[in-house]
Amino acid sequence: MNILVVGGAGYIGSHMVKLLAVAGHRVVTLDNLCQGYRDAVRYGEFIEADLADRAALERVLKGGAFDAVMHFASFIQVGESVAEPAKYYTNNVTNTQNLLDAIVGCGVNHFIFSSTAALFGEPEYTPINEAHPARPINPYGRSKWFVEQMLEDYERAYGLKSVCLRYFNAAGADPDGELGERHLPETHLIPLILQAASGRRDGIKVFGRDYATPDGTCIRDYVHVMDLCEAHLLAIETLRSTQKSARYNLGNGNGFSVQEVIDSASRVTGCDIKVVDDVRRDGDPAVLVADSRLAREALGWRPRFAELDTIVGHAWQWECSAGEWAGV
Ligand code: UDP
Repeated sequence: MNILVVGGAGYIGSHMVKLLAVAGHRVVTLDNLCQGYRDAVRYGEFIEADLADRAALERVLKGGAFDAVMHFASFIQVGESVAEPAKYYTNNVTNTQNLLDAIVGCGVNHFIFSSTAALFGEPEYTPINEAHPARPINPYGRSKWFVEQMLEDYERAYGLKSVCLRYFNAAGADPDGELGERHLPETHLIPLILQAASGRRDGIKVFGRDYATPDGTCIRDYVHVMDLCEAHLLAIETLRSTQKSARYNLGNGNGFSVQEVIDSASRVTGCDIKVVDDVRRDGDPAVLVADSRLAREALGWRPRFAELDTIVGHAWQWECSAGEWAGV
């Protein structure tokens, strides 16, 4: 296949580019590098362009003969989206519409969209399947849900087929150690704990120990970034063969508490990790776990790295190479 990866210089996108290239597909990355890193794009062609730049998008799309576009380029911080909703609606919605219009105008028929468990809001039940109502409680979640709904309309009117993949907690790193998570600022639990282990950070704060969970800390579904990318590859192959748009929840189906993640990091790293208890973070549900049976059945998806220690181990390998990519 010939695939355009938008946001291919970011965390999940860069792993996707690698997986596609290693599987023998032609891959072109388009990224404005506002969050991504040029040196994270290790395979295929790279084009620096902004999603707001319609002429640039059309140039790339017209010249590329792409079988599909995968779209990873979005802002992802819930707290920031509450403080600066305009930033989120501009990039995640308006710029995505610009991309969709260019795609439709250039005759590309298949689109894979990075969506999120945040569109479910406060869960009514767990594990969360695709039938769970979408009631996002912050602008980030709403921005993703808007695009999912736009995609329904674009299919009806323009025939654009799409798959929306709702990630639960993307985690881990390339098992080869070539790629990993590199957010600035970092807000995600696993890299923060590992930075505390390596000494790049003083310690880790636990946001709430008074949740209705066995150890009182929040439970999340950590899914390995390479398993997420495998799901994208299966999704595009399945979309092209069935011509049926779909939405899938992607997680391991295993929840781990914040404390269990800290315990795993202590085991894997052998380092002392300073833990400080803090108050709850706004908008954090106690438990967020995916029911991914639909993805397993319809796509034949089988997460390969479901063990928490494996996920943390790959992320630790990446953290240990921070000297190369973070210059420390
Ligand atoms: N968390 C924490 N301390 C941190 C960062 C995160 O206790 O410094 C908790 C957070 O409250 C949530 C879980 O870890 O329960 C995962 O948070 P993360 O931000 O990694 O992902 P989210 O679930 O928000 O997508």
